Amino acid sequence: MSPDGAGRFAPSPSGALHLGNLRTALLAWLFARSTGRRFLLRIEDLDRVAPGAERTQLLDLNALGLDHDGPLSRQSEHQDRYAAATAALVAAGLTYECFCTRREIQQAVSAPHPMDSAAAGRYPGTCRHLTSDQVSRRRAAGRPPAVRLRAHVERLTVLDELTGPYSGVVEDIVLRRNDGLAAYNLAVVLDDAAQAIDQVVRGDDLLPATPAQAHLATLLDLPVPHYVHVPMALNMLGQRLAKRDGAVTMADLAARGRTPGDVLGVIATSLDLAEPGERVTPAGLLVRFDPAKLPRQPWIVGPELAAAELLEAAGPEGHPNRLGQRDHSV
Ligand code: GLU
Repeated sequence: MSPDGAGRFAPSPSGALHLGNLRTALLAWLFARSTGRRFLLRIEDLDRVAPGAERTQLLDLNALGLDHDGPLSRQSEHQDRYAAATAALVAAGLTYECFCTRREIQQAVSAPHPMDSAAAGRYPGTCRHLTSDQVSRRRAAGRPPAVRLRAHVERLTVLDELTGPYSGVVEDIVLRRNDGLAAYNLAVVLDDAAQAIDQVVRGDDLLPATPAQAHLATLLDLPVPHYVHVPMALNMLGQRLAKRDGAVTMADLAARGRTPGDVLGVIATSLDLAEPGERVTPAGLLVRFDPAKLPRQPWIVGPELAAAELLEAAGPEGHPNRLGQRDHSV
């Protein structure tokens, strides 16, 4: 138990939450509540904000019965926090300016004989060793630089409650983007610490970013949170679930007659916390929740959820409009 700590769900308001996001939200809520932690919501709105998305996301979480503590936090309201930390890191000599374009980084990574680090998809360090002359020339050329962390280690092992020890590359992450805004990896580390979040539950697509985040926290003398990376939801082709996969948001499902209770039931079933068709509540799931028994595989959002639509859509031609395929009707 950690009565002083908090867990959180930190969606990006780039669109409606889909079943995978909602499942991660339920898990974050269950992990926080089952360990006596507060549960906070943070809107990660540093980029890709879709009008109305924040409101819809909050309504959907509320409809599922996932309550949260304290006021909502928005990253766009904390630019001062990010600027101050970046300035401190710059003053401590822990950063460098990076003039690379996205395309140049991609080209370095896909070169025929890339450096090992590039092969791993890591920033190849092009600007790490520029001389001051080279920096001046690049500045004079007019392209505003991003600011990167000069990482002190090549690799780091973080502990994850579900994955176990995870050893990964510590990239020279961007702290300030070349448009002047704080980058995600900096904001997430600072916000988690500022909100006393000591339990980070999120999709396991973020596991590779975690060693660099933990390293940054340590450099800033901030505590490294307890990590829980949960399996993602995939479509039937094994790709990350997306809006184009059909009826995957609360609104899509509501349009097909699914109540929020149905959606909670489907998600709970996918976590082996309920029987198919069973009525459940978050409080009821909390009693059953045992992290050790959670499925460790991705959740394939497929025929079991689409069953009703499959039958409906099969129609006379027998061509089911399967979830997992592009659905032009939504
Ligand atoms: N905002 C990120 C997302 O929606 C999550 C970041 C995090 O949980 O650290 O994918």
